[in-house]
Amino acid sequence: MGQYIMGFISTQLRFKYWVFKLWFIGIFLLQINGNDKKALIFGITGQDGFYLTKLLLDKNYIVHGCMRNTPSQLERMRQSFKGFYKNSLFLHYGDLTDASSIIELLDEVKPDEIYNLGAQSQVALSFKKAEYTTNCDALGPLRILEAIRILGLKDKIRFYQASSSEMFGDVEDKLQDEMTLFAPKSPYATAKLFAYWITRNYREAYKIFACNGILFNHESERRGRGFVTRKIARAVAKISCGKNKVLCLGNLDSTRDWGYAPDYVEAMWLMLQQNAPDDYVIATGEGHSVREFVEAAFKVIGVTVEWHGDGINEIGRNKETEKILVRIDPKFFRPNDKKSSLGCNEKAKKLLRWQPTTKFNELAKKMVESELLNHL
Ligand code: NAP
Repeated sequence: MGQYIMGFISTQLRFKYWVFKLWFIGIFLLQINGNDKKALIFGITGQDGFYLTKLLLDKNYIVHGCMRNTPSQLERMRQSFKGFYKNSLFLHYGDLTDASSIIELLDEVKPDEIYNLGAQSQVALSFKKAEYTTNCDALGPLRILEAIRILGLKDKIRFYQASSSEMFGDVEDKLQDEMTLFAPKSPYATAKLFAYWITRNYREAYKIFACNGILFNHESERRGRGFVTRKIARAVAKISCGKNKVLCLGNLDSTRDWGYAPDYVEAMWLMLQQNAPDDYVIATGEGHSVREFVEAAFKVIGVTVEWHGDGINEIGRNKETEKILVRIDPKFFRPNDKKSSLGCNEKAKKLLRWQPTTKFNELAKKMVESELLNHL
């Protein structure tokens, strides 16, 4: 009898041990899947907003997005994420220039993670809309940080600020990393620099888990039409279908470190999963000129570009047919353009275990092929 009771107790204990172990493994799996996490994205309608939303939904997050009041955007977002994520994606109206809409939104959603991707993001336009750019890009993030503080959510929320390599300005022949001095050359870059510092200030002063991703240029099929890579990809597709003849550009010799946007949103997410908040440069470490992007893009449609002439008289011809494909138009020169940019991604590689996956030629190919689908 005693033996029987002892056996029964030992079976019960083993059973309880296994139930506990399975429960523990379940909780652990939920944690790494981010199953119970809520994210709020400012700038959800932009290029990075799209890829980040997709990444977070794939990780089983509940995603809330803040967008400005344009019904056409709402329709575009619904189309983009149609069907699959019915109960996981929620859109709200709000504006980075309007503090009360931000406070209300944070109070309603109480997210675990905030990604601030919202910005007037065009450098050239920032010279024409300097005050608006500053209001949105500099004070917008401050408004979010203040809302976190005022609502007493500083221990709950992790905050990502979309900082930019534009903050470095011109640093020629050198890799730029987290220790490089900043020397912004546009209203956009200056506003981003304020946002960078206020993010660090709130991290230090209020112990908010706040990170800056200092991202170098990243492009994709969803890049805004005002950006040079998308402009080139569209023009190449249109020229190949006979809808356009010539592509007009500004400075062909500006060099940029161009990566692929889906890789870069993964780095944003990784930053908020670390034990401590920090700032990271995200880049490919490879520089290419606008001229090289033009050559790579035309190569996708089987055309080799040959360059003739100098300065504003330079032209690019189709090597085979000798037709002019590219001209220079001084109206596309920026008032204070930075010539080159090249990032060092060593810290992100080491601490975040992040790697860019898409090479320059592959990026140009993806962008032109996507435009060909739109224009054929
Ligand atoms: P994007 O395509 O231009 O998207 C910007 C987003 O910000 C859009 O959703 C836009 O909404 C929103 N926005 C603009 N003004 C706003 C306001 N007043 N209130 C709320 N939202 C507003 O930019 P992206 O390429 O995705 O870049 C994401 C972020 O990373 C931006 O902050 C950008 O400055 C920064 N960044 C980008 C790069 C890059 O190479 N892509 C590099 C470094 C840093 P609407 O649709 O209403 O205009």
